[in-house]
Amino acid sequence: MAHSYLFNCRRCKHSQQLYEGWRFMEHDQTVESVLNSTQIKLHYKTREKITSLAKTHHQLQVKTEYKIYRCQTCLQLSDKLVVTVWNGEQRLHQTQFKCANCRARLKHTNIHRVKFAICPKCKSKQFEKSKVLMLWN
Ligand SMILES: [Zn+2]
Ligand SMILES: [Zn+2]
Repeated sequence: MAHSYLFNCRRCKHSQQLYEGWRFMEHDQTVESVLNSTQIKLHYKTREKITSLAKTHHQLQVKTEYKIYRCQTCLQLSDKLVVTVWNGEQRLHQTQFKCANCRARLKHTNIHRVKFAICPKCKSKQFEKSKVLMLWN
């Protein structure tokens, strides 16, 4: 299940839709299915990381999930496909992201609590959450 959040700028009317949650039918997947999936667009570095971990660990689980981040430095929003690799209880890898706008490192954001962000177009602070939709896979 996923949520879609719509943010609208009250000043310039720019809007941005963001996703959080599982957009794919199976969110717990095997290494092979993730690497071979046509839906999941992996960054080449993530792909290399998973491939090399799979050589030494044979029971890997991979979770793919969309998460929304609000940059703590420039307050702009983005959604990212977070890939987490587990070996039993042990977390071996999770994708890290940098803000596309200012290159600061992104930390997890609780989107439910975020009421506003900075509009990527006009940079006003009147970029507000207007709609939340539930999406069923
Ligand atoms: Zn930023
Ligand atoms: Zn704007």
